[in-house]
Amino acid sequence: MKRFSLGMAVALFLGACSGAEGPGNSNSAATSPRVTGILSTKQAKQLFGALEAGSRQSPSAYGGYAKGCAAGSVQLEETGPTWQAMRLSRNRNWALPVTIDYLKDLSRAAAREPDWDGIYIGDLSQPRGGPMLTGHRSHQNGLDADIWMRPADRLNLTRTERETMSSTSMRRSKGAFVNSKWTQAHRNILKAAASDPRVARIFVFPGAKVDMCNAETGDRSYLRKIRPWWGHHYHFHVRLTCPDGMRGCVNQDPVPRGDGCDDAQAWVNNILDPPPPDPTAPPPTPRSELTMGDLPAQCAAVLSSN
Ligand SMILES: [Zn+2]
Repeated sequence: MKRFSLGMAVALFLGACSGAEGPGNSNSAATSPRVTGILSTKQAKQLFGALEAGSRQSPSAYGGYAKGCAAGSVQLEETGPTWQAMRLSRNRNWALPVTIDYLKDLSRAAAREPDWDGIYIGDLSQPRGGPMLTGHRSHQNGLDADIWMRPADRLNLTRTERETMSSTSMRRSKGAFVNSKWTQAHRNILKAAASDPRVARIFVFPGAKVDMCNAETGDRSYLRKIRPWWGHHYHFHVRLTCPDGMRGCVNQDPVPRGDGCDDAQAWVNNILDPPPPDPTAPPPTPRSELTMGDLPAQCAAVLSSN
């Protein structure tokens, strides 16, 4: 058995959006002592969560995926030829232009699959990124996106339908296996999503990764970027790498070498046969709320910009 580590156990305890590699990875974004006193003590999620539009700045990610913000974000159109944005009331269909371009390209690839007219797109980021009032720890710097695994078989959903309709779970046995809703189209779309050079990693439940490992008879290189993680059976999560030249953007550690299939199988084995709890494990530290002082200095300007 490989690497069912303390990190994984802690991540299990904390839920789907935290841990060493997962969507909530905070990495090591530099923080600034120069942010003004008032801002530095107020919770950043309240400040970023209140903004309704992107900043009129040149596009840039500042900081990491779970400790950052985004300048010059644009809003994904609510409906396009091959996509619809879901849960419009959340106003989280904002991201850096590179992310929007990527999603449109992926939606065109998905539309080539039978029964898929494109993709339903879940949360991206808030208009200026930053921590959120509810939900994700990551999705902060305009480079994360959630893609529904429910086939987008109609692109005329009303606003109400987009609030109330649910995605479809693809898992069985707590994520150790895929279920009968999972199709070759899911494999193809995830392969297209991971094969794009703009992508750093993709999070999906362990059973899906193992299924893809077992099904692949050709080039396996794209599998490396598909990472098993908790949750992620209603949607998969795409994380783009920091674009060239975006100097304030903090990448996560690169994905480990190899296709990661043994690691995914170890996750599955641990779901099927969980190890006993480690009595010496330290209690998980509660999530602390980020203040402006925790974020990169540029985020104060992103917040106050027109
Ligand atoms: Zn996500």
